[in-house]
Order: sequence, then C-alpha cells, then structure tokens
Amino acid sequence: MPSEHSDAPPVSVAGPHGPLRDLGPDLARDLVQLRPEGLYCPAGGFYIDPLQPVPLAVITHGHGDHARRGMGTYHCSMDTLPILRWRLGDQLYVPHDEGVAFMLGETRVSLHPAGHVLGSVQVRIERDGEVWVVSGDYKRQPDPTCRPFEVVPCDTFITEATFGLPVFRWPDTAGVAREIVAWREQCAARGETAILYCYALGKAQRVLAELMAHTDQPALLHGAIAAGVAVYRQAGIPMLATEPVGETPRGSDFAGRLVIAPPSAAGSAWLRRFRQAQHGFASGWMQLRGNRRRRNVDRGFVVSDHADWPDLLRTVRETGARRIIATHGDTHALVRTLQESGVQAHALAMPQSEDD
Ligand SMILES: [Zn+2]
Repeated sequence: MPSEHSDAPPVSVAGPHGPLRDLGPDLARDLVQLRPEGLYCPAGGFYIDPLQPVPLAVITHGHGDHARRGMGTYHCSMDTLPILRWRLGDQLYVPHDEGVAFMLGETRVSLHPAGHVLGSVQVRIERDGEVWVVSGDYKRQPDPTCRPFEVVPCDTFITEATFGLPVFRWPDTAGVAREIVAWREQCAARGETAILYCYALGKAQRVLAELMAHTDQPALLHGAIAAGVAVYRQAGIPMLATEPVGETPRGSDFAGRLVIAPPSAAGSAWLRRFRQAQHGFASGWMQLRGNRRRRNVDRGFVVSDHADWPDLLRTVRETGARRIIATHGDTHALVRTLQESGVQAHALAMPQSEDD
C-alpha cells in the first residue's frame, strides 16, 4: 500500500463489491490535495473555495460554503463578481471570462460553466499535460438563470455528491413550476397565502424565472430574497415581476398571493402578517417524504440546483476521467458504484453543501 510519500502507483485489490477497490492513490503527487484550509493546488499555490483564510483563492460560486471572507485575492468568473461584491463587500477580486486560461504558479487555470447558479464555474487545472477539474456545485438540468454545465474532459474529476443516492431523480422543472401555480390557486380559493421557502441565492431566482411562463401575477418577496433578485435583475436575468413584502401598504390582504421567503423565515414572527397561509418548500431534499414532515411544510416541490443520481453518473462518464474523487455529501454510494463499474474512485471528507 503506497504511503503519502512513496512513488508507487495506486494499488487495486479485489474487494467485497468488485475487483477494483482502490486502496488510496499517491496523494502527495496529486495536482489538488485536501488540507485543513480546503482543496489546495501546490503547483499553483492556490486554494479552491477555501474553508479558512488563505492568500490566494479560486472561487467556484457565491454560496456561503464556497465563498468566504478573509482571502487575500479572489479569482472568480465575471458573472460571480457582482454576487461576491454583494455577499463579501470590497475585496481584491480578479474576474475571468469563462474558458479563457490564466497562469497561477506552474499551472494553467480556466473556469467553465457549472450550471448551478449565476456565475458558477468548474475549475480546470493543467500542468505538464495532466488535467484536473474541480466541479464545485453543479447540475445538468436546464436553468434559465445561468449558463449550462460544460463537460470538460480531464484525467481526474473532483465531483460534488450532494445528492449521491439512487433515490434522487429530478422531475422536469417546468412541470414543478405549473404545480406551484396550481398550489397558489388552491390557496387563493381558500383565502390563504402561499408561502414558498427557497434558498436565497439561485433557487429563488430560478423559480421566479421558471414561473414566468405560467403566471403573470407578481410574487411577493421577503427582504433576504429581494436582495438576491436585485443582483440577478442587474445582470439582466428575466424573472417574474416581484414586489418586496416590506413595501406593501399596512393591512394589505395577502390571500391568494405567492410569497417567496428564505427557509430561515419559517416559524418566525415575520409570518404573522399573512394570517391564513400554506407553507411549501422548493428543494431536492423534498424528494424524501420525511424531510417534508421534518420541515413542517404542507407541500414539497422537488427543485434542486445539484446533479441528481443519473446526472452524477453521466457526468463522471462524459468527462472521460480515469480517476474520480467525490466530495460534499453522500459520497459512499457514488464511490462504491463507480468502483463496481471499474472506475478508480475515492472520497475526500468535506462538509455537506448548504444549498439544495
Ligand atoms: Zn452551491
């Protein structure tokens, strides 16, 4: 078995689930390695979405578990720049056009669309002809608010695995948008408000963009959602008309209206103004009935900004990578399934994604 400092190639032996059970690659030679501060590229001297303050960071997208304060320099995509400015304030940003390479240390780096939220990218790193791609968060479903995922051929693919279980299979989002409109109409017939909880960056904007084809009635927004919607509107993303709840006249009747709020608003005093209301939640986690109960919501709508199980497997295959490293989430099932099909795969222990 290779140690961290040996030059021996990775060892494969027969395991309980197949012939290619990887005993661990030679991590010290890897182009990207896991350190306490996060994913690190020693040849480039930079971290990707670091967990702790470091001098040089490449940021895949604006979610809080990927873009943190305290970095010396932030390399990011052009479309992520306004999101980082909104969330992190004034920092030293170096924005890049997607697909245009730049040098960091001995490595040639380029950013490629990940289809997750506005500006989200994968990071391609090349040195001496060897190519690694770090996916960041990604999805393959169409999303009118961001560029579609680009398959980037590579030798090693570090993939997220937030929804890495066979039970996760996303329905068509247009169908879900129609369900949301029908639910709001049912609420209207009962004199209730339809309050839909959505992650504030990405999910809320995608839902608003998808709803445009199915309704003209403006949606009301919680303040935390309105801020993100303003950033997307500034970037030219078409979405359903909206008005902030906070700017409606005192004593307004919200019956029959759709209200978009962040999950943190559930159970808060902010909800009192709506009197009679139904509560819905838009998330990939809603595929599991138990989560609906735990969240204490009346309706779950399955909309996720991450790849589902079939798309994780398809993406891994399409990159042509010889080696797969799974992070962020339920890596066990994905790693085992890939190993059983003869792909060299293992996991890096990183925190589960915060968004859904
Ligand atoms: Zn994310």
